[in-house]
Amino acid sequence: MSTRRRTLLKVIVLGDSGVGKTSLMNQYVHKKFSQQYKATIGADFVTKELPIDDRLVTLQIWDTAGQERFQSLGVAFYRGADCCALVYDVNVMRSFDTLDNWHEEFLKQGVRPFTLGNVPFYMDCTNGLANLSDPRTFPFILLGNKIDIDGGNSRVVSEKKAKDWCASKGNIPYFETSAKEDYNVDPAFLSIAKIALDNE
Ligand code: GDP
Ligand code: MG
Repeated sequence: MSTRRRTLLKVIVLGDSGVGKTSLMNQYVHKKFSQQYKATIGADFVTKELPIDDRLVTLQIWDTAGQERFQSLGVAFYRGADCCALVYDVNVMRSFDTLDNWHEEFLKQGVRPFTLGNVPFYMDCTNGLANLSDPRTFPFILLGNKIDIDGGNSRVVSEKKAKDWCASKGNIPYFETSAKEDYNVDPAFLSIAKIALDNE
């Protein structure tokens, strides 16, 4: 009988429409990939259980329902996040250029600063009022998806460019993935779970 401690972790997945957020989650949780594009509908999140050390982690992964096009995701989406996974498509420059916006948007929505005197404090909306967290240390991860396309010949964002961006944001971990070929999907989500767990 397992006596592992159970831990629930909330992960939100952000990035431009079409980069493969839903596909990555489907591949990770259901081991399925679909070429057909359908704007996400239905459940707010999917869950997957995975053992990490002495814990049984339930990863609750929140997907957008297509509202990312309008950037109106609402507070419930962000509330309680333990990790934020940003996704772009290595073949689409614009999806890389908008990462700054998604990063800022998350910090604005998920981690709110307030001031005492002129000292900024950062309150993690997620874990309640007692928990002060610095946005510079909030756990993000970046996924560069669709590396399978054209055998990598149509990519427009180099690995170096992506890693430089990650370094500029305080050393965000970076994974290159293919939801289609199930490349690096498990390692990326395992890393997400570990990062979120460390942030607990
Ligand atoms: P979302 O809007 O970010 O949720 O993107 P989707 O997951 O809906 O994917 C958009 C389109 O890209 C769909 O047609 C997917 O089949 C396709 N797609 C997603 N991931 C990959 C991938 O890794 N490789 C390839 N070749 N296509 C992908
Ligand atoms: Mg989607």
